[in-house]
Amino acid sequence: MTTKVRFAPSPTGKLHVGNIRTALTNVLHARQTGGIFLLRIDDTDLERSTKAFEDGIRADLQWLGLGWDESFNQSDRFDKYDAAAARLKEMGLLYPAYETGDELDRKRKIQRAQGKPPVYDRAALDLTEAQKAAYEAEGRKPHWRFKLSGNPVTWTDLVRGETTIDTASLSDPILIREDGSYLYTLPSVVDDIDAGITTIIRGEDHVTNSGAQIEIFEALGGKAPEFGHKALLVGADGGKLSKRLGTLAISDLREEGIEPLAILSLLAKLGTSDPIEPVTDLQQLVDSFSFGKFSRAPARFDPAELQRVNAGVLHQLDYAAVKDRLAALGADDGEAFWHAIQPNLEKLTDATDWHRLIAGPVDPVIEDADYAKQAAAHLPQGELTSASWGEWTATLKAETGRKGKDLFLPLRLALTGQRHGPDMSELLPLIGRERVLRRLQG
Ligand code: GLU
Repeated sequence: MTTKVRFAPSPTGKLHVGNIRTALTNVLHARQTGGIFLLRIDDTDLERSTKAFEDGIRADLQWLGLGWDESFNQSDRFDKYDAAAARLKEMGLLYPAYETGDELDRKRKIQRAQGKPPVYDRAALDLTEAQKAAYEAEGRKPHWRFKLSGNPVTWTDLVRGETTIDTASLSDPILIREDGSYLYTLPSVVDDIDAGITTIIRGEDHVTNSGAQIEIFEALGGKAPEFGHKALLVGADGGKLSKRLGTLAISDLREEGIEPLAILSLLAKLGTSDPIEPVTDLQQLVDSFSFGKFSRAPARFDPAELQRVNAGVLHQLDYAAVKDRLAALGADDGEAFWHAIQPNLEKLTDATDWHRLIAGPVDPVIEDADYAKQAAAHLPQGELTSASWGEWTATLKAETGRKGKDLFLPLRLALTGQRHGPDMSELLPLIGRERVLRRLQG
């Protein structure tokens, strides 16, 4: 059977690293098994969902290289959810309840005071037709609850292993609100059945839902798919990530100059037994993917680690992979330039600084004008090549008796205005004779 997975974001905000970790896990499993990756837009909440957020989600996934094979929006499928709800009602598994939020709160308070778990008492199941009619006449509208079996639901989770949710400890979940709108629970099951989803991969915060959803799958005549619930991401200090998610939106990371492959390299390995290493091809992550490597402990997301991986990715990218982006930055000075600056980059945008160092203007720093003069006089003749720096400094060493830092640093400071930077033997031919001589004059 072909694997089919789905990533199902709600377009009520921007994608952040936690979402992408889920999307990526789905993609890796699909690619590894030759399966299908479905993007489902969970936009049943018509008030909070926006087209702009949906466009942003699609753009972020494309930018990351996590394109989908199929896609649809839940908002196009209300008739399917209505039909499923009607079937559940017929089976007596979806029942109307009329309690207001305040009334439910009061019930829970009493239960807690009595030391009981705050589970819905199913009072609505005992309502007579006359009582229901009386509520309706009062202007109350029902919300609709799914009647759980009260039995334990057990599945072999791809990440957690054997997992049991005792539905007796859960309130019957509300599937339809009193205004007729759907909560996520039922539409998701209807879609997963219709789309033929074989594997649901999502965060551990959905484990309890899964217990209820498995019963809904079975009630609607489907067999529940397999599940994999990953432990959640937490901050570097072990605290909740969600508070800081504003700064971890994928679009912000993109603007900061983080490489898509840095995000993927890190997120694919966080919380697994594999080391975190920069990769330059998604296929490397596909090849090493395995559910068995995921830990059940929360995975820590550290932005500083993302920066390190980002530099590591840049240090491996071929010129061909960055040429167009360098050109867009106005910093495409050819392949030799790329190789010269590559080891010094933390972000691709740093290339503009190194470009300026080649093209100028540079403020030469000259502390010893005589040495600068001598240097100019001994610059090798002809076109400067990658061998020129070695020849030049060997001559200067012999002529001046300088060595080490005293020999090299004044040249770097004169030619680049900076104490640190790319390898001088690679920079020298890029700067070129004319500019070298001009900068040595201060
Ligand atoms: N829209 C749901 C969410 O973002 C989907 C959860 C799921 O994968 O089933 O939480």
